[in-house]
Amino acid sequence: LEAKEEIDHNSLAVDVMTPRRGDPALTVLTQEGMTVGEVESLIESTRFSGFPVVLSQESQRLVGFVLRRDLLISIDNARKRQDGIVSASQVVFTEHLPPLSPEAPPPLPLRGIMDLSPFTVTDHTPIDITVDIFRKLGLRQCLVTHNGKLLGIITKKDVLKHMAQIANRDPDSILFN
Ligand code: ADP
Repeated sequence: LEAKEEIDHNSLAVDVMTPRRGDPALTVLTQEGMTVGEVESLIESTRFSGFPVVLSQESQRLVGFVLRRDLLISIDNARKRQDGIVSASQVVFTEHLPPLSPEAPPPLPLRGIMDLSPFTVTDHTPIDITVDIFRKLGLRQCLVTHNGKLLGIITKKDVLKHMAQIANRDPDSILFN
């Protein structure tokens, strides 16, 4: 038990985040190159409240965070009201529109709905400090990075679950003092 307590108090953001070791990677959007149709099927095939936006799949450099709800509303509105927005339209989170071929349908710029500075902690941040940040800043989710590279996500529920686990094993946990 003592060894376990030791581990609990030494938990790091990397131990609480999704994905855990061996789990599938995070569901992310790239800042350009994805189509409206691809983004829609990604939204439909998952239940996550939000998606990190990365520079590219290869780099996994964090660019921002976008809420599922805002994506749904914006794409829905654009399909209804914006001329030429179709499944093949490119979704663009960059500041400047990338060059498109003349035959391509008009792109859908969505930088406006992206949180450009989502809260992040590094993988080595102790979890009790992360819990403190969640409480004090009223966060709903926080991204985990290493040298600017996206590693994972921690939601408020993830934090609460982790705290409940610790409380079960160790009712006198310092987290509750
Ligand atoms: P909540 O934790 O409140 O249910 P979500 O529905 O967003 O919020 O997340 C559910 C679970 O999926 C959490 O454990 C979270 O860490 C994880 N998660 C959240 N967003 C993503 C994502 N984009 N890709 C992969 N996993 C995610």
